[in-house]
Amino acid sequence: MLLRHTPKEIKERTAITINPAKTCQPIGAMYASLGIHGCLPHSHGSQGCCAYHRSTLTRHYKEPVMAATSSFTEGASVFGGQANLVQAINNIFTVYNPDIIAVHTTCLSETIGDDIPQIVAKAMTDGKIPDGKYVIHANTPSYAGSHVTGFGSMVKAMVDYFSENTAGKREVYNLIPGYVEPSDMEEVKRLANEMKIDSIMFPDTSGILNGPQTGRFEMFPEGGVSINDLKLTGDSAATIALGKLSSEPAARALDTKCKVPYKLLDIPIGFLATDRLIMAMQDLAGTTVPYSIELERGRMMDMITDMQQYLHGKRVALSADPDQLIPLVEFLISIGMDPVHIVTGTPGKKTEKRLRELTSGMKSEANIKVGANADLFLLHQWIKNDPVDLLIGNTYLKYIARDEDISMVRFGFPILDRVGHSYFPTVGYRGGMRLIEMILNALLDAKDRKSPDESFELVM
Ligand code: SF4
Repeated sequence: MLLRHTPKEIKERTAITINPAKTCQPIGAMYASLGIHGCLPHSHGSQGCCAYHRSTLTRHYKEPVMAATSSFTEGASVFGGQANLVQAINNIFTVYNPDIIAVHTTCLSETIGDDIPQIVAKAMTDGKIPDGKYVIHANTPSYAGSHVTGFGSMVKAMVDYFSENTAGKREVYNLIPGYVEPSDMEEVKRLANEMKIDSIMFPDTSGILNGPQTGRFEMFPEGGVSINDLKLTGDSAATIALGKLSSEPAARALDTKCKVPYKLLDIPIGFLATDRLIMAMQDLAGTTVPYSIELERGRMMDMITDMQQYLHGKRVALSADPDQLIPLVEFLISIGMDPVHIVTGTPGKKTEKRLRELTSGMKSEANIKVGANADLFLLHQWIKNDPVDLLIGNTYLKYIARDEDISMVRFGFPILDRVGHSYFPTVGYRGGMRLIEMILNALLDAKDRKSPDESFELVM
């Protein structure tokens, strides 16, 4: 009982978060940066921040994640980090030769108030940035937002620094995938291909964080959106932005800067959100839905129908990031499950409003908490008072799963103790089938384990 001190009685808390349901802004910024080809992320702060962010991404993706740091010590903490960053830019281009350095700030450099554009301008004036190379930045203090907003800020930086109007509009569509797995990005690109849509996805971590074992270390793997494509995003006919927090800031900036209209959609988790994506693609590009996609959807519906008796009425507790949580909750309700306890540490009034709307038709009102104090401690207390059949969330939920003997589906970020997420998507119809498989396996394994002899079934 690792969490044996969690009491059943819930008391109002104002000043403390216990086992948070979010992580640092810079982790999201670092992840987004890795989705640009030839990019080395750079953490402007202390070595400890960078080590934590790199190790979390490395553990989640089981791939070496490269990033540099300004290595703040006492001097930089007092006098500012300009000298460190200028020196770092020089060293990075000299030693590692990336095409681009994507700088994100940390709590310390934000508290000092370092002006990154001014420091980068100085590096440029001092001749530390070679011709044809780039340095971009995003402000990502971790006392605001979460890894999701950090991701959104770095994606917006890609627009701010690169998008431009060049040769006039092209029949190409920008896809901003949201903070999802490399496998999910691949799946969204595949759906666009099936719909015969020319697209630029940014960022795109597929091929970078889910690449093959070749026996050779590649500092900059083949995947990622190119800088040239990022420039061309300003000429695209429209943008499809998936996920309000992680994608809309960039889509809106692109609309303002280059007059590229955008459509904001949920990340396509579940058949309803995927339907909306497919319909949006059809409407924007004027293409038709091919039989291959109808087939995938039909298979997903068949799977849900075949196993409905095991899904219906099952009570679920969830902890995830808002952009995934909203379509996931919608999906669970659409297949007859009851998401009764829901937390997300990323703040946002609109997230809470949508979650309440989605769950308003359930038999009893769901427990929903968003932002400060929306932590795993509270989720555990809710579960102690009102048990569930299934947990869905990142690896940190395993402590509750173990103490309360509840089946768990690993979903979201970070997943530190399983593999598969970077290779097998949970978006689109195929991803939906995988989600259903994972949910059913968890529920049916528990049924097998817990059923008395007289109701132990061979066929289910
Ligand atoms: S919370 Fe702030 S100080 Fe801590 S690791 Fe994240 S960026 Fe660094």
